[in-house]
Amino acid sequence: MSKKVVVLGGGIIGLATAWHCIKRGHEVTLLDRRQKVRDGCSFGNAGMLVPSHFIPLAAPGMIKLGMKWLWSRESPFAIRPRLSWSLIDWLWKFQRACNQQHVEQNSPLLRDLNLAGRAAFLELETELAGEFNLVQKGLVMLCATEEGMHEEAEVAAVSNSLGVPASVMNPQELAELDPGIEMDVVGGVHFPLDCHLSPNLLMSSLEEKLQRRGVEFVWETECGGFRTQQNEIQCITSSTGEISGDEYVICGGAWSNQLADDLGISLPLQAGKGYSLTLETPRQQPTVCSILKEARVAVTPMGNSLRFGGTMEIVGHDESISPSRLRGIVRSIPEYFPALKQDDFQDCQPWVGLRPCSPDGLPYVGRTSKYRNLLMATGHGMMGISLSMITGKLIAEAIEDEPSSIDGIERILPDRFAN
Ligand SMILES: Cc1cc2nc3c(=O)[nH]c(=O)nc-3n(C[C@H](O)[C@H](O)[C@H](O)COP(=O)(O)OP(=O)(O)OC[C@H]3O[C@@H](n4cnc5c(N)ncnc54)[C@H](O)[C@@H]3O)c2cc1C
Repeated sequence: MSKKVVVLGGGIIGLATAWHCIKRGHEVTLLDRRQKVRDGCSFGNAGMLVPSHFIPLAAPGMIKLGMKWLWSRESPFAIRPRLSWSLIDWLWKFQRACNQQHVEQNSPLLRDLNLAGRAAFLELETELAGEFNLVQKGLVMLCATEEGMHEEAEVAAVSNSLGVPASVMNPQELAELDPGIEMDVVGGVHFPLDCHLSPNLLMSSLEEKLQRRGVEFVWETECGGFRTQQNEIQCITSSTGEISGDEYVICGGAWSNQLADDLGISLPLQAGKGYSLTLETPRQQPTVCSILKEARVAVTPMGNSLRFGGTMEIVGHDESISPSRLRGIVRSIPEYFPALKQDDFQDCQPWVGLRPCSPDGLPYVGRTSKYRNLLMATGHGMMGISLSMITGKLIAEAIEDEPSSIDGIERILPDRFAN
């Protein structure tokens, strides 16, 4: 039976949710407080699809690494201490999740979600006639140190045991993988199933197809709250009036917890600020995307341009740009790709985005128990593009009360932290 679905948020998760709902014959209204021509986390990111990322962000060693990086102004990670109950609560839950049991329990789930997400993207590429530069050449973790190489070789062994192929490569093998690219590394690990795409193109082509299929877009409309009766949402109250439907899906990115708060639902979430820089005419253009292991910088070819993304700053919703963190990114690049120079970035306009980060490194996807017609799709952290299409599919399945196509999704339900 066709339902009227109200999607709150026009980032990639909102668009993917709308896509899967409209394909199943539902009527969709999508609202966002931004303009149609907009920016945000779903646009300037590194565009990687990552079956290789089966280890949740909350993992053993993260607290130690975070403490080490806390004191450096150029490090890829930062937390701005502030008197905020939500930050204290998030940090408490994060440190509790940083253990081996959490990783072992959830790695198969993240693997399944990312592989299903990849498959859904291949399908989307056919449906959208390849309009977003999807490249299936894998991803390499490039290591500049023996210590980094040793760590990545261990991850590769686990990856293979989980059925996600990974090959440890020496510099010569890496050179053969991407001929003509100078790399100053001790080695790397190639994950052949990973892919990359151009997020700006993905967003525009998906939005255009949604429009054609009849999704009603309501731009420049801020959701200010909800009108509820008992365990049911009756409508959204917005800056331009009330919007009602049968089902409501919160896809508000790093602001989703504010919307959940209005409904008395606790959704531990912090914004994780990151930057990207895009070289329009790089001196050398790799064809395989990579992550610079020690520097934590993602490098993605997008058509003729080359994008570099990095840093994770837990600093609230502050979208200002830190010159020292940007310097950290720029300084690291020639250490791995000596043909690229720091000066190449002089005229580059930095981009900033806020990732929606849950404390256990797993997304929030599915129905809430408090309201019978409320669902959430957020908290994807560093994997929002990769997991977008499978998220949309899981939400559409939940809307139709169908059994989920992925096992173990009770572990990503939005009210898993409710007391
Ligand atoms: C530097 C960087 C690199 C990244 N690289 C990758 C990568 O390679 N691969 C990957 O998978 N992921 C990557 N990510 C993560 C990915 O970009 C995010 O997880 C994803 O974009 C989040 O999408 P979203 O739709 O949840 O949020 P958003 O894109 O932030 O969208 C949320 C929308 O909700 C709207 N909204 C919020 N509140 C309200 C309200 N009250 N009323 C109306 N509208 C509202 C906002 O205006 C916004 O448009 C990267 C992120 C960064 C910062």
